[in-house]
Parts: sequence; structure tokens; C-alpha cells
Amino acid sequence: MLQQTRVEAAIPYYRRFLAAFPTVFDLANAQEEAVLKNWEGLGYYTRARNLHRAAKIVAGELAGQFPRTAKGLRALPGIGAYTAGAIASIAFGEAETAIDGNQIRVLTRLFAIEGETGKPGTAAEIRKAARALLDPDRPGDFNQALMGMGALVCLPKNPRCGSCPVRDCCGAKARGIEEILPRLPEKAEKKIVPCAVAMVFVPGGVLLRQRPMDGLLGGMWEFPVFENVHSAKELKAALADMGIAVRSVKRSESAEHVFTHLVWRMRGYLVEGTPAGMPSGCRAAGSALLGRVPMSSAMRMYRDIVYRELENRT
Ligand code: SF4
Repeated sequence: MLQQTRVEAAIPYYRRFLAAFPTVFDLANAQEEAVLKNWEGLGYYTRARNLHRAAKIVAGELAGQFPRTAKGLRALPGIGAYTAGAIASIAFGEAETAIDGNQIRVLTRLFAIEGETGKPGTAAEIRKAARALLDPDRPGDFNQALMGMGALVCLPKNPRCGSCPVRDCCGAKARGIEEILPRLPEKAEKKIVPCAVAMVFVPGGVLLRQRPMDGLLGGMWEFPVFENVHSAKELKAALADMGIAVRSVKRSESAEHVFTHLVWRMRGYLVEGTPAGMPSGCRAAGSALLGRVPMSSAMRMYRDIVYRELENRT
């Protein structure tokens, strides 16, 4: 959960998740939809699906034994170098580095590493610096200390050098360049994507569609979202392609949802439709089912609108 999410934001989800799946066997045996439902709102849903796949491997192939080395951990889905190093060092005492954004900041400043952090040469320099400092007897404490330093003392802006325990040996501080390090790669501009969100009322409720597994919000359910559809006329055509005859379309609310690389600029539409048959990957849902399926927070406002509509119709 902590990949891409702050601790404070993750805590309630973590508690809820562990209550639902208290052991690796519970998680391995769960339906993917239940796993995604318990991850709902936390975003980056690939993490949940990878965790589920990893639990199946641990509970099955590994007979419930969690790998105890960074190498073994990296073989599990969703676990990269940082997570493997963090788990191996903190949980199992393996002398492994765990280099996250906070550690990069502290290490580039401490060693006055001026190269852009995204470049392979700079990344190698940072790894070398981390390995040189790592305490082989207490690697977990060391890694957590560096993470803590980055989170509390060596801040991105206005680092608290006055109260820093390593200020006397900090290369960046000695040269007065602590504010300009680390040199991060330039962030790409987020792409703005206009979308139509179709709340299509059909016999049996509202139309839900599951997103393809391998893509944005993979496996989550939604009111069909059509990227680059700009008007009711274009939406009618897109729904016709799904085999839905549209009886009426009404504009609803607009909303924005920000992803890592793009922004959905959404326009909602309330649609009365008649499907020729249930389109592939879709189902009709009443209020009860709507509350059970996993939906991303991009759909939150539209789900509330649909709840009200369904209520008015009963
Ligand atoms: S002295 Fe300042 S820049 Fe250097 S590690 Fe400490 S807080 Fe960071």
C-alpha cells in the first residue's frame, strides 16, 4: 500500500484490508473482485492485483512460507528492488539497501551527488553510497533511519540542517548546494483527456462495465467511460457500437480525475437505453450490487448521482 501512498492515507485501508484478509491464505482464496473492493479508493489498483497474485504464490507454491531474502521477494509479482530491500532488511535482517525517494534525497545531499537522479550513472552512484553506509548488523534500522531522515529532517524544501545529526559530514551543506539537490528528471506534462461518462439506465438498473485487466484501473467497474468523446451525439454513436439503442440523453455533472500521467476531464450523461443484449464485460446493477462492486474514486460522484436516480425510480 505504501508504494505511491502516504502512511497516513494508507492506515485505514491497511486496517480494513487486514480485517478482511487476516492471513495470506485468506487473501489467496479471495475472489479478485473482493480484493479490489477492499482496495477501493486507494488507487493504483495493479498493486492490489499483484498482491493477490503474490499471496496465491506464497500460499500455494511456497506452502505459506514468505521469502526471506530480497532475491526471493523480487520474484513475487509487484515487488521491485526498493520493496524487496525494505522487507528483507526490516523483517529479516538481510544486509540490503532500500532506496526510495527519501533516501535518494539524503544520499545525494550527503555525498553531494550532482547528476540527474534518473540517469543510470547517477543511480549507480547512489546505490554505491547506500551500500558504503549500510550497517550490516542492523540493516533494517539503518534503512528506516535514512527514510526517517528524509521524511523529517532532510526535507525537499528548507532542510533542517541545524538539527541534522550528520550536518558535519554533509557534502551538499559544506558547499551550500543542499537546496538544489537532488536534481530530479523533469516531469512530463499530464495529458488532458476529455471523456464522456455514460450512466445508462437499462431494464434491471444501471449499466456497469469492467475495465480491461491490463490497463488503467484494470479490473475496476465503471459507468462506461469513453475517452475523447465530446458530445451527446458522439456518445450516442459510441453506445450504438456497444449495441445500445439510446432513447434519451441528458447532461449531468462534470468532474476531473488526476492520474499519474493524465487527467480525465469528465462530462456525465444520464442516458435511457435499451441494449440489444448485455454487451460483453457489462452487467446491469441495482443499488445493492452497485454498492458491492469495486469502483475507482473517479466514479464516486457519478455513483452518488446514480444512487439518487435509482432511488427516485423505485
Ligand atoms: S545537513 Fe542538511 S542537507 Fe545535509 S543531510 Fe542534513 S538535513 Fe540534509
